[in-house]
Amino acid sequence: MIDDTLSLPLPLLVACDCRDEVQLVIGTNPLGACKSRIKSILRSGANAIVLAPTSDNDIKQLVSNFGSESRFQIINRSLHLSDLTTIGRPLVAKVVDRVFVQLPMEQCLIAKEVYTQCVKLRIPINTFQRPEYSTFHMGSTYVDPEGSGLQISVSTNGQGCILANRIKREVIAALPKNISQVVSNMGRLRDQVINEDQKKLLHQQYHLTQELAVAENVWYGLTGEYESHKLNKLIKEFDMSERDQKLKRTRWLSQLIEYYPLSKLADVSLAELGSQPTEHQNSDTPNNTSKVPPILEGSDRENATAIQSNSNKSDPRGSISLVGSGPGSTSMLTLGALQEIKTADLVLADKLVPQGVLDLIPSSTETFIARKFPGNAERAQQELLEKGLESAKKGLKVVRLKQGDPYIFGRGGEEYKYFSQHGFEPVVLPGLSSALASTVVSRIPATQRDVADQVLVCTGTGRKGALPQIPEYVSSRTTIFLMALHRADVLVRELLNHQWDPKVPVAIVERASCPDQRVTRTQLKYVSEVVEEIGSRPPGLLVVGHSVAALVPDKLTQFNDSHKYSIEEGYQATEPVLSSLLN
Ligand code: SAH
Repeated sequence: MIDDTLSLPLPLLVACDCRDEVQLVIGTNPLGACKSRIKSILRSGANAIVLAPTSDNDIKQLVSNFGSESRFQIINRSLHLSDLTTIGRPLVAKVVDRVFVQLPMEQCLIAKEVYTQCVKLRIPINTFQRPEYSTFHMGSTYVDPEGSGLQISVSTNGQGCILANRIKREVIAALPKNISQVVSNMGRLRDQVINEDQKKLLHQQYHLTQELAVAENVWYGLTGEYESHKLNKLIKEFDMSERDQKLKRTRWLSQLIEYYPLSKLADVSLAELGSQPTEHQNSDTPNNTSKVPPILEGSDRENATAIQSNSNKSDPRGSISLVGSGPGSTSMLTLGALQEIKTADLVLADKLVPQGVLDLIPSSTETFIARKFPGNAERAQQELLEKGLESAKKGLKVVRLKQGDPYIFGRGGEEYKYFSQHGFEPVVLPGLSSALASTVVSRIPATQRDVADQVLVCTGTGRKGALPQIPEYVSSRTTIFLMALHRADVLVRELLNHQWDPKVPVAIVERASCPDQRVTRTQLKYVSEVVEEIGSRPPGLLVVGHSVAALVPDKLTQFNDSHKYSIEEGYQATEPVLSSLLN
């Protein structure tokens, strides 16, 4: 379905494979722009033929720049329209593949003629600073100088290339400095995983059964695992099929890419990806837990431990706290959580803890991010518990940093019991749960007079992946389903089977309070179709109830079979102001 809030036609942004094409540059005016055209043509693997150069000086300069390139050629004569169909590749009947017109203003009649002819012949044409004579335009493009293959192109749909350039620069400045290594490393891992695991699997299964159906099934594995809405597909840890085992690393990789701090992706190795967490696994950082805790003197020490419980206050063996870090934005972190982060010796973080919060951890503090991926959640959890306990015994201040609130589907209770039973009763600091923050950031009053008088927070995934007990439908209730999007189809089917109103408004709230927050409003009956169509941007949850529509304009909530959803993107956090307070 096309989002009909977009009334302007938008050009299609594509990345074309131009290898071996013949691309014609007609004229060389202005020379600077002409040079960058030629450079990008050559970089794309195409041949650049310059025709009708504007001056002898231009020829000299172009030759000195590109003369040594075998795919570069200058034809020093004026243009004949027949050139368009005679100097191209034999493979495409000698029609040139693409045309760039760089003629001076006074030759605009020729430009018009070339344009008309190109349109007739369906040759894509770009005329310098003449959108009316162009069938495509080039975005303002950044090419990673380190050669990772990363390119970022910005288009404002003809609303100013200076602006597009500025936006491009801002986007690039916001990326981690090691983005090139991130792209190269992830590309390498992806290749290795696909080549080693999936090809092996394809081969094995094909030979086992020799049935086309199985081969098709595996092809689903090869491609489908990268479909974002399947990213969180439930994998049963202790009941994995051989195929699941083999595809495990692919899924882990997809999850890693989705959840890990971007800059950290530069160093993840294949060995780490495939390894099962064990008791003595090293952490992400080269430091290890045996490091001596910093000695804090007098009142410093007191301040640092001020929020610890009495049981730990004078415990030379260290301490453990379970700390909620809120849903994403650092503006939703509590001051207590901040103090814990700043005074920890070791931070054990959930993989969902947002980057902004991780950035607050002092660089000298050892940080370990849970390696909970589909199929190894139990083992990864055990690894964290053991690591925490071991470190506390060594006298360290261990902060177990959890996403949202530690006691809302965060296993906080289990962790509390574990550490207490082992002699370290943790201090527990609440965090703002995504369950209640998601509604606020998406303009949903979870309770509102005459609309909703109760709130229910529940899970879409019960223990060991079973469906949870389905709550009854109450029309004055706002129900929030966490961990539900990867199986929205099953859940919604069950809700409808239990007499839930198919037309009740639903919001799919993803990455609540993060800059890339997405709120998709629809009706219950359309949810699975919509999830399939928009893909997923984890973590996300479902809010179901009339409160979803209470504060937003009608056009965002009136749906039918041909208009099934509306999307609102982004969240304006107050981080920039906060940053001065936080440091
Ligand atoms: N303890 C957490 C919840 C952990 S369970 C809390 O209180 O928020 C993980 C689930 O929380 C995810 O599957 C998703 O449903 C939800 N979730 C966590 N952060 C979210 C966010 N920023 N936006 C939307 N949903 C989120």
